[in-house]
Amino acid sequence: MDPVTASMIEIHDRLSSLTDGEVADYIPQLASADPGTFGLALVSMSGNRYLAGDTDEPFSIQSVSKPFVYALALSELGPAEVARRVGAEPSGEAFNAISLEPGTGRPANPMVNAGAIVTTSLVPAADPEDRFERIRACLSAFAGRPLDVDEDVYRSEVDTGDRNRALAYLMRGAGSLSGDVDETVRTYFRQCSIRVRVADLAVMAATLADGGVNPVTGDRVVAESVAVRALAVMATCGMYDTAGEWLLRVGLPAKSGVSGGLIACSPARFGIAVHSPPLDRAGNPVRGVVALTELSERFGLHLMHQPGRHAATVTDVTTALDHPSHRARTPAQRATLDREGHRIVVIRAQGILEFTETEHLLHALREYTPPAPGWIVLDLDRVTRMAVGSAAMLDATLADLASAGHEIAIAAREPLLDPIGDDGDPVPWTPFRSGAEAVAWSEDRLLASAAPAGSSG
Ligand code: GLN
Repeated sequence: MDPVTASMIEIHDRLSSLTDGEVADYIPQLASADPGTFGLALVSMSGNRYLAGDTDEPFSIQSVSKPFVYALALSELGPAEVARRVGAEPSGEAFNAISLEPGTGRPANPMVNAGAIVTTSLVPAADPEDRFERIRACLSAFAGRPLDVDEDVYRSEVDTGDRNRALAYLMRGAGSLSGDVDETVRTYFRQCSIRVRVADLAVMAATLADGGVNPVTGDRVVAESVAVRALAVMATCGMYDTAGEWLLRVGLPAKSGVSGGLIACSPARFGIAVHSPPLDRAGNPVRGVVALTELSERFGLHLMHQPGRHAATVTDVTTALDHPSHRARTPAQRATLDREGHRIVVIRAQGILEFTETEHLLHALREYTPPAPGWIVLDLDRVTRMAVGSAAMLDATLADLASAGHEIAIAAREPLLDPIGDDGDPVPWTPFRSGAEAVAWSEDRLLASAAPAGSSG
């Protein structure tokens, strides 16, 4: 058995005996849930699934829908308009609290009912059916399969939903909710009644963790900036009035729901979901909270824990004196290169250039810069990706070196250099397809500058 499944099964089996918590009982469909049901699913960034326990049980998504509908509203309206209508502050209160900003009536956060009802109302649509269809289509794209509605849950939600209706009327009175209250609340109830299995929730969570791309289908569901915002709001507001304690102990963006669903996202690693109906007093699934606390500790997943660089960035610093090119040279040229070859410095780097790696590379560049005028060969052949901010840092450093009188040759694979110097100005460096070509070119340039015009070397 693979070690990921083995960990999940071990946690599942051990926590199955945990019988604390109460199953939600405000509607019969939730009250009749088996408190023993306990399933775990994890979906990696390569789209692989790992399952443990009861993973075939369908259940209504309830509040776990909230971050996804928030992401939909952000995609449709943009962050400024959404922020005008719903805040992003943890209310520190229960999911059905009346937490409205004094004066504007703007709900505090989109992860509890008041803010979620406004968020649902923001989804642009021709009519209520169309609005719900867009929500269903969006959640289905997150899950990677068409999701349907549990009509019994929906009817019960409508029958018992007076507190949500009251919240909506209050917000309409305060001016923060526009449109028909009954229709809006019904759309919200339908959204909560969408039927999922725990593996669907894991794919949905993995899509947020993957910057908005569903790792199973490969489809982009929302823009990366939208996924980042949804994760940020989950991190501060996703766990009702225990959000602070959760961030402290587990350190992952998460969202729970009243049917016992819980998702957590480990950015660029995986999405995980738990289904276990018994809830603690804050409304979070008891086994889910313990399972994720343990997983986070075991695998070092806390957002604030960053293990740092995984591999050396600068792998080699040499000069053309130690490692000349293989280009044929006359005895006179060879003599010049033996005397002057140290003025060509070759720096090799590898891996992904994010801030930390780029800072390391730029430090090496400063440390080994030859006396001006010199030649700098940057061999980035084994660099696989460069972050936009890193390209800007490198660009600025290369401009400084060029203005100090150096000539710069960069070897890299095709698209890597595109973001460097993308402001349209001519770049102060020459691109090459290999480090060997870049060194040979630098030698040619050195020889040309060393040889008095007309002499043949
Ligand atoms: N349908 C439920 C409600 O609005 C969802 C709440 C939840 O999952 N916490 O009351």
